[in-house]
Amino acid sequence: HTYVMSAIRNISERKRFEQALQEKNQELALANQAKDRFLAGMSHELRTPLNAIIGFTGTLLMKLPGPLNEEQEQQLRTVQAGGRHLLALINDLLDVAKIEAGKVQLHFEPVDCGALLREIDATLAPQARAKGLDFSLHLPGKAVVLESDSRALKQIVLNLVGNAIKFTEHGSVQLTLAPGRNLSAGDGGAWVEIRVDDSGIGIAPADQAKLFGAFARVNQSRPGAPEGTGLGLHLSQRLAEVLGGRIVVQSESDRGSSFSLLLPEA
Ligand code: ADP
Repeated sequence: HTYVMSAIRNISERKRFEQALQEKNQELALANQAKDRFLAGMSHELRTPLNAIIGFTGTLLMKLPGPLNEEQEQQLRTVQAGGRHLLALINDLLDVAKIEAGKVQLHFEPVDCGALLREIDATLAPQARAKGLDFSLHLPGKAVVLESDSRALKQIVLNLVGNAIKFTEHGSVQLTLAPGRNLSAGDGGAWVEIRVDDSGIGIAPADQAKLFGAFARVNQSRPGAPEGTGLGLHLSQRLAEVLGGRIVVQSESDRGSSFSLLLPEA
């Protein structure tokens, strides 16, 4: 009798437990849906007015010389720059939120790394050359094809090259593809390296560890420090991780930096 009673108790407890679990899962699914709606809503609500601010200040500035004096024109440029900065910040923050929520949709397919770097070269080389920098692309003799997500890959490399151009005033920026690098023993198989070398301001050793945290801005005490959100490298590192790789940095103050995106070859 006691045995039967305890078995019945066990069964009903298990049922209660399963029901509670199901309710919790439903709550979780609802909370996730609410979070998705919130992210999508935020993105729309914040971007729409900002686009109006940026667009119309641009229209006003184009109509110059009009009834605006120099001081007013300057103020308008400040409004426009502020709007652009906020938009960049919102875009980066939403990207971070998406990664944190595990909502980045990746599409893995064979990616020709050389072709991807040539596209980046075409996009950013003019910007580097306009600054008087020597920009070069170095590709190996044979094609390097990886199973990866080309959009995420492009976003990471664009950010690394963009930074190299931004933080280099003289000299060169080099974009290199090096396949089949074997790192230290015990580090698994071969890696493909996409490396960005610059001869820019560099990063002090103490700051290098902070670079990949959110809102990392180093070298800010320098005069004329370029604008940025401090989220680019954080985002890039998270994306690299999602792709199964990582970004490593080597740098020396006033001599330049070298950022390597390492991706597993297979
Ligand atoms: P942002 O460029 O928007 O400030 P990032 O996360 O891309 O943000 O970079 C964080 C900081 O790391 C930058 O503010 C800059 O101080 C430093 N940094 C990044 N790349 C370089 C580089 N190639 N040379 C020197 N400093 C760099």
